[in-house]
Amino acid sequence: MVEKILKCPICNEPARFIITDEAVVGKRFPVPCILEHKDHSFIAYLDSQLSLCDIEKPYIIKSEP
Ligand SMILES: [Zn+2]
Repeated sequence: MVEKILKCPICNEPARFIITDEAVVGKRFPVPCILEHKDHSFIAYLDSQLSLCDIEKPYIIKSEP
């Protein structure tokens, strides 16, 4: 388990996350994770040490009615 404080790519404010090992157990690396911050979310890619490889702003496509 690690604590990460990172700058949210959506609102540019610092955001605090606790990432547990179960996020990456049995996954292929890098593991994409959705990090939720307030009313939005972004994607972080984690390696086996729970280090952040990359952070991405998702392009969101909504389903049709
Ligand atoms: Zn944010």
